[in-house]
Amino acid sequence: MATVYRNVKMLAGEGWLSEVELPGGGLRYELADLPHHHHFLCRSCDQAFDVHQCPDEVESLAPAGFEVDGHELILFGRCAACA
Ligand SMILES: [Zn+2]
Ligand SMILES: [Zn+2]
Repeated sequence: MATVYRNVKMLAGEGWLSEVELPGGGLRYELADLPHHHHFLCRSCDQAFDVHQCPDEVESLAPAGFEVDGHELILFGRCAACA
């Protein structure tokens, strides 16, 4: 496991993987060149799933005069297998 972890760290350092921080789930990694997307976190099996839609209007929620340069969105619940 230590070796796997070291390799993952190395790939992240070289820009192949990006770190995804999910509440309660510690750090996860995914390929860095994926298009913008979000995540669904299953509370039952603790797996993270990709969500490919993005509600662009979330960035308009910022107060007037604020400049948004990114957002994260995490859905919680149970995946199809657990529901
Ligand atoms: Zn699940
Ligand atoms: Zn988005």
